[in-house]
Amino acid sequence: MSKRDYYEVLGVDKGSDQDSIKRAYRKMAMKYHPDRNPGDKQAEEKFKEANEAYEVLGDQNKRAKYDQFGHAGVDPNAQGGFGGFGSGGFGDIFEDIFDMFGGGFSGRRSGPQKGADLKYELGITFKEAAFGVKKEITIQRHEKCDTCHGTGAKEGTSKKTCSKCNGSGEIRYATRTPLGQFVNVKPCDVCHGAGSIIENPCLQCHGAGKELKNKKIQINIPAGVDTGSVIPLRGEGEPGEKGGPQGDLYIVLRIKPHEIFKRDGNDIICEIPITFVQAALGDELQIPTLEGQEKYKIPEGTQSGTIFRMKGKGIPNVRGYGRGDLYIKVIVEVPKRLNDKQKELLKKFADVMGEDVHEQRKTFFDKVKEVFGI
Ligand code: ZN
Ligand code: ZN
Repeated sequence: MSKRDYYEVLGVDKGSDQDSIKRAYRKMAMKYHPDRNPGDKQAEEKFKEANEAYEVLGDQNKRAKYDQFGHAGVDPNAQGGFGGFGSGGFGDIFEDIFDMFGGGFSGRRSGPQKGADLKYELGITFKEAAFGVKKEITIQRHEKCDTCHGTGAKEGTSKKTCSKCNGSGEIRYATRTPLGQFVNVKPCDVCHGAGSIIENPCLQCHGAGKELKNKKIQINIPAGVDTGSVIPLRGEGEPGEKGGPQGDLYIVLRIKPHEIFKRDGNDIICEIPITFVQAALGDELQIPTLEGQEKYKIPEGTQSGTIFRMKGKGIPNVRGYGRGDLYIKVIVEVPKRLNDKQKELLKKFADVMGEDVHEQRKTFFDKVKEVFGI
């Protein structure tokens, strides 16, 4: 199922300021709070959806990423990683609602949590972006500790279920408020929410159950990507907590500029200097393309700045629909250092040319005469 747009979820415009977003979120959260709609699955979903949307739109950094990359740029379950978690006002508003409901909240995070997302910036060449490429990168991420196999307990020992919370990691208690009775949940103070206690921690990972490791990852980059393209690799992020799924890895691409090609979407622009003799007489030019050299005939009397189009010689569409074009812009180069003989010849040339062959120049000076009467 595709995710709904976060702005749509909160019922606000894309241009809304942070205050309006906060207000819209509060309204939704009050309306659909599970404690007000016990047993109503739909309300619960709406509440979760609103929370997720606000977690992103309520944070200006995350909101900017969302505006740019959509759902791929932000991950609702992430902590840290792409854009960071909770750096905005989420904490505040959580407390607001916490207060509204008499200090109780049954939906606190205590179950399995998805691991943090990771972001990796990868620079590739112009040609690699055009035709696609396979790359191997090395990232640092946490992996299961080899010594204790992820349990965090020293060899020969094991974790013990916390006797205070019986392994749930949370303590529940009921309170009465004018709005009704609420079940409150707080993390267990003995096991700090883990549900178990490690009496003899693993010497390798000090009880964490995981270690920071270098991990090699293969990436298939499709043809036609551009700077800012994001390749999501599901499940290649940090490991989850309490049996939660692994986070995702986002490869953000940066294309290195090419020496002679410029890119505009799927089109390529290439400026080619030609001599004024080539421009005047026409010539067959050697045109550099992505695939190699190709011949292209320019006609007699080609003006500087003229753009020629070579259809289908641009960048392939990233979704596989056709290719862009290659635009050749010819620039007529006027020689800077001429020897005496060359100057002499040019003067003779000018004498036999007269004015009439230079159409634009003639039209221009005709207009000058018209305007100034000289
Ligand atoms: Zn260990
Ligand atoms: Zn406990």
